[in-house]
Amino acid sequence: MPATVLDGREIAAEIRAEVAAEIEAMGGAGIRPGLAVLLVGNNPASEIYVRGKVKSCEELGIYSEQFTPSFESSTEDLVELVQALNRRDEIDGILVQLPLPPQVDAKRVLMTVDPAKDVDGFHPMNVGFLSTQRPGLVPCTPAGIIEILRRSDIPIVGQEAVVVGRSDIVGKPVAMLLLNANATVTVCHSKTRDLPVVCRRADILVAAIGRAGMIRRNFVKPGAAVIDVGTNKVTDPGEFERLFAGNSRREESFRAKGSTLVGDVHPEVAEVAGALTPVPGGVGPLTIAMLMANTVRAAKLRRVSRMAEVPRT
Ligand code: NAP
Repeated sequence: MPATVLDGREIAAEIRAEVAAEIEAMGGAGIRPGLAVLLVGNNPASEIYVRGKVKSCEELGIYSEQFTPSFESSTEDLVELVQALNRRDEIDGILVQLPLPPQVDAKRVLMTVDPAKDVDGFHPMNVGFLSTQRPGLVPCTPAGIIEILRRSDIPIVGQEAVVVGRSDIVGKPVAMLLLNANATVTVCHSKTRDLPVVCRRADILVAAIGRAGMIRRNFVKPGAAVIDVGTNKVTDPGEFERLFAGNSRREESFRAKGSTLVGDVHPEVAEVAGALTPVPGGVGPLTIAMLMANTVRAAKLRRVSRMAEVPRT
């Protein structure tokens, strides 16, 4: 039986509706969550991502401000901008769109973001909160993966979870979230021996590698839930053929556009997995939805909780 498709668009819409309701309720208390987005230079992919984030803010009623410092900006210029945003009370979230230009010390800029406004969850203080199970801000893509599992009634407690990839942005935080949710977690990377054997242990397999179609049928235990984080653009016809031969819908769109978006999981895995996130339309939509949720959470943690501390007269 083919795998159940875990529809990320549907789950993201559910989360966005919940977030919109929270924003409305906060409006009653005179609070409108605010997000500042920094886009440095003119990277076309970054421009598309930022446009999506700003549009999503508008749709949900989050106040957003976009800053577009030039590609020639120095580390100091960006640090000063972030510090100014840290001081502004109506800004709850600060998002620095990566990558930054090569002359900029990206780590220093990210470290300058007030951890209470770090809606990407990349600041070491939030990383520490996550690993010690304290309230904080969790990176959006990993948080979205947990939402997909929970909202699809995929059990986590006591399950074997294998995460392929150990980046600070996806692999490590999703492994920590799964561990916090009481899964038994193995993290794999490019030096892991017998990767297919290790992956085949997984009840939940998360692929965050960045290699088109690397996870083949023999990596997957029958019935496992497979979360495909990869977003790889395939333009080579031979590579396309390896992945999608016989898929007429994909072939048509590949011919028209000259490229297609592919996950880290080979399409043949749908024949063995119990559940699978598609690419596109799986994890991707959750990332922006969780950014919106994080902005609201940041506003609540910082402003609503502070209001609750003010004694009523
Ligand atoms: P990354 O920083 O490049 O990390 C890739 C990880 O995969 C590394 O830990 C690397 O191991 C491991 N790896 C590479 N080749 C491997 C191999 N042959 N066998 C086993 N492990 C291997 O990538 P990332 O930022 O985590 O992103 C991963 C993918 O997710 C990318 O395709 C990215 O575009 C996508 N992504 C999607 C979203 C979304 O919203 N859908 C969000 C973020 C990322 P080493 O550590 O040993 O090098």
